[in-house]
Amino acid sequence: MTEEAPVSAPRRLLARVRDIMAGSGNAEERLNKIVQRIAHDMVAEVCSCYIMRAGEVLELFATQGLRQDAVHQTRLRVGEGLIGVIAAQGEPLVAADAQNHPGFVYRPETGEEIYHSMLGVPIRRDARVMGVLAVQNREARAFSDEEMETLETVAMVVAELIAGNRLVDPDELVQVEGNALLPLRLEGARLTGGLGIGRAVLHRPRVHVQKLVADDPDRERRRLRAAMGTMHRAIDAMLAQASEGEHSDILEAYAMFARDTGWVARIEEAIDTGLTAEAAVQRVHDDTRARMLSVNDPYIRERLHDLEDLTNRLLQHLAGREGTAAGTELPPDTVLVARSMGPAELLDYDQTSLRGVVLEEGGPNSHVAIVARALDIPVVGRARDAVARVESGDRLIVDGDNAQVFIRPGEDVLAEFTAAAESRAEQRAAYAALSHLPAVTLDGVRVNLMLNAGVLLDLGQLAPTGADGIGLYRTELGFMVRSSLPTVEEQAALYAKVLEQSGERPVVFRTLDIGGDKVLPYWDPTAEDNPAMGWRSMRITLDRPLILRHQFRALIRAAAGRALNIMLPMIAEVAEFDFARDLLDKELARERTRGTPPPRAARLGTMLEVPALTFHLEALLRRVDFVSVGSNDLFQFLYAADRANPRVAERYDPLGPTMLRFLHHVVTACRAAGVPVTLCGEMAGRPLDALALLGLGYRSLSMPGPAVGPVKAMVRHLDLTGLEDFVRTQLDSPARSVRPALKGYARDHGVPV
Ligand code: PEP
Ligand code: MG
Repeated sequence: MTEEAPVSAPRRLLARVRDIMAGSGNAEERLNKIVQRIAHDMVAEVCSCYIMRAGEVLELFATQGLRQDAVHQTRLRVGEGLIGVIAAQGEPLVAADAQNHPGFVYRPETGEEIYHSMLGVPIRRDARVMGVLAVQNREARAFSDEEMETLETVAMVVAELIAGNRLVDPDELVQVEGNALLPLRLEGARLTGGLGIGRAVLHRPRVHVQKLVADDPDRERRRLRAAMGTMHRAIDAMLAQASEGEHSDILEAYAMFARDTGWVARIEEAIDTGLTAEAAVQRVHDDTRARMLSVNDPYIRERLHDLEDLTNRLLQHLAGREGTAAGTELPPDTVLVARSMGPAELLDYDQTSLRGVVLEEGGPNSHVAIVARALDIPVVGRARDAVARVESGDRLIVDGDNAQVFIRPGEDVLAEFTAAAESRAEQRAAYAALSHLPAVTLDGVRVNLMLNAGVLLDLGQLAPTGADGIGLYRTELGFMVRSSLPTVEEQAALYAKVLEQSGERPVVFRTLDIGGDKVLPYWDPTAEDNPAMGWRSMRITLDRPLILRHQFRALIRAAAGRALNIMLPMIAEVAEFDFARDLLDKELARERTRGTPPPRAARLGTMLEVPALTFHLEALLRRVDFVSVGSNDLFQFLYAADRANPRVAERYDPLGPTMLRFLHHVVTACRAAGVPVTLCGEMAGRPLDALALLGLGYRSLSMPGPAVGPVKAMVRHLDLTGLEDFVRTQLDSPARSVRPALKGYARDHGVPV
């Protein structure tokens, strides 16, 4: 028989506090019993509990030893008095002679003048200070480390009592971040424009520890070890998946932290004081965080990030579930906050409640950004420490246009952004009202306004915008969100859905346009010095014709009797087009012999985005069924200015005479040859740029969904007769840009741009 280990004093107190928690009485009565029990067990004459109220005020809620009529009367601001200092610093404080401590303030109603020594600890939950728990003695005495740890452990239980029983309004608790009430503004990167206001939901919810006290430390150690084991395996798998590159060193540091033996030892020590494994993990987290926050070293701050994440993961493993908030009940105005997020994870959420997303990572071409754009949800990425700084339920403003996030904004900021959001909503409603009206100019010219799409979700914009069809379906996105090349069947199923959801409206499918900034996770491109001009897009598929043939095959099968429009990206010379045309013909013949119903019409067109092709337009126009100008790439090649390099991307203006002359040349040649021409780069979606394009002779534009309303409003106020002459005179302008002149024209003619 093994002899039972003696129960330590902290464990005994903890067990008694747990019994009180589980016992009868309302929350305040139980809190009273707890302070009495602490005073008794810790041999203190006084034990008091202060709770944080709105406005950073600590209110005395329960006391053993001080005058009872001081309860709910005595209030101290954060930073005021020793209690206020503990709350402000978020750290325990021992004062052998409290009244001679520089921070001491005397409150006569408490009758505390007779007590000399004090030990106080913050009551924390999720790193938030919710109050202070303090014991006092008459004689000037020292407190041991063990006593301090005991009180800290009991403070965790009290935190649960406060939060779980709503001793104060939860909205009051949410306001205190770290040590102070802080509205915050984070700068990040614009991933999707727009403005969203709502309540924070952590994508990976923090696990709130429910059971704090345990009877069997050995069992808790075993649980800890098991959870650590599964967590390490999950992290190793994550590491193995991560390709060499910018993230792997970050992940390595993270994995190292996870295996830090000091961390594990501290958790085990906390278990020995009588805590459950979960409570011990939380306890060590809170302590470590408080220490790390006081250090200014950016490396340490970064590790804090890891600590937050690892703690939560470990708690999830201990709870036996690793998951996101997607399955939980969401506030009607949810703003998701995450370190990173995959596109599928975003789609798991109920879209009607999403107002915005804040990420610590992510670039504009990340898949989650692409999906968010399709859903028209503002996203700010690279918002440093967002997860640690936000508590669920916090009010957030996601200002995608200006790449900033406001956390717990003050009333004035909130009012300003609410007004801006309302005026946007009114604008949207006005644009939505145009959806069933045609895009016709005042002088009766019909303009074709189409959508750019890349995921099925984008098609949801067809009806509300009243767009005439899909002018550019970027098929590469379907390749980018997978872990391997999609098969012909998988592609055909996707394209069939696109056609089905577009109904009678035409769709132009662009073949795979990868390389440059669009990377396939399973494709290992050799590093190139100049990827935008490298082995990308059509160059890859011409060198790997099977990929192209499979895509043609899938498109033919998907069309099955319907019209099929295929567009080739980055064609630089006529021979490239001929080569692809030959492949398409072969595939059409192959499918015919297999009995696949042929498309009603199979049209093959090209994008015009490599300037060289313009010098071979005549020959090209004899071969193609249509042309679509990709002004994004065309512009970067024409001006030799990388579109992804912020230092040069905006150096030149697409409304400069050079670009306009180029575009004029193209549209004139296409019209003369009777070849339909569209422009599908970003400029088509900017009303003033679109106005210039109409003046040049373009009658078909393809753009992102949110741009259709503003462009249609512009078209419906426009008289083309005068505009065409005006724009033509501008082609000879020596100015760097004709933008100011066009703006003046729009203003003088009452055209909203
Ligand atoms: C373009 O280059 O203008 C275009 C529409 O293609 P992407 O932006 O996909 O390169
Ligand atoms: Mg392009």
